[in-house]
Amino acid sequence: MTDRLTETARRRTFAIISHPDAGKTTMTEKVLLFGGAIQLAGTIKGRKAGRHATSDWMTMEKERGISVTSSVMQFPYDGRIVNLLDTPGHEDFSEDTYRVLTAVDSALMVIDVAKGVEERTIKLMEVCRLRDTPIMTFINKLDREGKEPIELLDEVETVLNIQCAPITWPIGMGKRLKGIYHLYADKVILYKPSTERRQDYDEIQGLDNPELDTLLGTQADELREEIELVKGASHEFDLQAYLDGKLTPVYFGTALNSFGIRELLDGFVENAPAPQARPTTTRKVEAAEEPFTGFVFKIQANMDPQHRDRMAFMRICSGKFEKGMKVKHVRIGKDVKIPDALTFMASDREHVEDAYPGDIIGLHNHGSIRIGDTFTMGENLQFTGIPNFAPELFRRAQLRDPLKMKQLQKGLEQLCEEGATQLFKPINNNDLILGAVGVLQFDVVAQRLKDEYKVDAMFEGVNVQTARWVTSTNEKKFDEFKTKAAQNLAYDHAGELVYIAPTRINLQMAQEKWPDIKFHSTREHG
Ligand code: GDP
Repeated sequence: MTDRLTETARRRTFAIISHPDAGKTTMTEKVLLFGGAIQLAGTIKGRKAGRHATSDWMTMEKERGISVTSSVMQFPYDGRIVNLLDTPGHEDFSEDTYRVLTAVDSALMVIDVAKGVEERTIKLMEVCRLRDTPIMTFINKLDREGKEPIELLDEVETVLNIQCAPITWPIGMGKRLKGIYHLYADKVILYKPSTERRQDYDEIQGLDNPELDTLLGTQADELREEIELVKGASHEFDLQAYLDGKLTPVYFGTALNSFGIRELLDGFVENAPAPQARPTTTRKVEAAEEPFTGFVFKIQANMDPQHRDRMAFMRICSGKFEKGMKVKHVRIGKDVKIPDALTFMASDREHVEDAYPGDIIGLHNHGSIRIGDTFTMGENLQFTGIPNFAPELFRRAQLRDPLKMKQLQKGLEQLCEEGATQLFKPINNNDLILGAVGVLQFDVVAQRLKDEYKVDAMFEGVNVQTARWVTSTNEKKFDEFKTKAAQNLAYDHAGELVYIAPTRINLQMAQEKWPDIKFHSTREHG
């Protein structure tokens, strides 16, 4: 038993969030490098051409020949077991990103020193805030000129509404970059650009150390003054405030040159939370509970085109997973055996023997698993917080060959279960309307219908601008609404009622006209 609890306590499960180009991929690579998961890093070239890959990791795998066939990478670091979950880089897959963020215990926010807080960082931060996810910050690209560090912290504090506690501090930047000062270890780590994992940084202990003056010249006194100022003007690191999502420890460095990463990782494994309790519709499940529980947050088509099956990614929430164990698939109410789950140990891609809370396991899915599905040892639980977002883009599916209607419906339904797109069936006609958050999703769906279901489908414009899930506690009014607003109502693939609006004004008017009806912009899976 202690074994299970010890294993649980040493898990650290996180994802990296950032605006495109801030350095998420480079950072991922360096984290894996420092974690010993890959041997040698290098600039990932030509990857911009692969922008449309569903995952930066896929591109990385192609470019670097490393085995990252999955969206999860596990590696040991300093006595802990770290699980790094990939978040898709392209904004069209942001829905996927949100779901990944439901499966982590903390996040690392990467910010470009020259650009500061960007639009997508703000959005992702909002998502993290829904669950008060603890966040560490890495200010990247210090080898270039950027904003003044003090200004940057101020920007993070005001724009993202979170307190900043600098842990390391840059000594110059761009051509004048000399190193970083660790405020809590009271040491200077001298800058040496490198693409490799280094342990041999030159360090100088103590800010007063005269060696600093010899090495840094006038920059030494500048640093001393600045640190005094920083200490007075910023927040001190407070573990509880960080765990509550109210304060972010800030590290500086350059991912490209592998500098500042080690300090970040050391702080991360020490302070980032071990697996946290997770809410269900009925109660909170603590990670230390003995019975096994888990939920599926992502389904991904196997990248090997020879294999039609898909991989369901399950986050373990409590208990211990053992190979071949029987678990209850709560939604369908059946016990299922899991003979061949995968784990994602970077150096050892063996099939999993056992796994613990915080770990992600990959299940082969032949269609019976959906996003949001909960697995238990028998208890009827449903984990919450894995939302569907109201799509912003809509298309009507049209077949070139009308005889393929059955295949089209089947394909769309399965792709919906994966979360690749959302399907709406108007109650008044036989249209199949697809909803997406980003336009690229339609291309992916069309391609996959062709490859996997042999269906040639086109998507054409449709007069829908926005959608809202509708519910009401007033049954009478709800019935009246269903009749009167029928031309705007559809069922989604899970059979939930949705109001589809041709314009935002129309939606607004409907909301005013029907005060007893609730219009929701997200729907929980399940
Ligand atoms: P992503 O879009 O957030 O995944 O960002 P990438 O990791 O692809 O980085 C975007 C660009 O910034 C690439 O050309 C990287 O080589 C570059 N880059 C990343 N980190 C650094 C850094 O520390 N310094 C400099 N100068 N460039 C960097």
